[in-house]
Amino acid sequence: MKLMTMWRDALHGLTKKPVTQRYPFVRQEAPDQLRGHLVWNRETCTGCGLCAKDCPAEAIEVITLDKKAKRFVFRYHVDRCTFCAQCVESCRQNCISMLSDRWELAAVDKEAFLVHYGDEADVQAALAGEPDSGAPAAE
Ligand code: SF4
Ligand code: SF4
Repeated sequence: MKLMTMWRDALHGLTKKPVTQRYPFVRQEAPDQLRGHLVWNRETCTGCGLCAKDCPAEAIEVITLDKKAKRFVFRYHVDRCTFCAQCVESCRQNCISMLSDRWELAAVDKEAFLVHYGDEADVQAALAGEPDSGAPAAE
């Protein structure tokens, strides 16, 4: 009986179409709810640092250059992110969202996994180590 089942499965396997997809040659639309790469909206960010505090993977740093002037830099460690969406939930200002169409994140270069969002001059200042860079912002 078992042999019959095995032969039937083998024949079935030889005749049916493969269930695998020809990725990357054939791509399917990603579902709208897919949790992909983070994006940050600096317009509404208050620099509260909740996103960084609540991230279980320590994948976010909010660098405060000037709190009064709302100069913040959002540093995102893509290689640490588990795409849990906790930061999206935690942000009361709805600054963080996840792109459903940006999920092919493999790279040979390590630099690709460190992303800075913010005003270009502020990002440069943060990289240069001005004034509070490197430390997550605290209220
Ligand atoms: S999705 Fe999760 S792991 Fe990724 S940055 Fe947000 S809180 Fe951290
Ligand atoms: S939780 Fe939102 S408002 Fe607070 S620092 Fe993060 S992105 Fe900015």
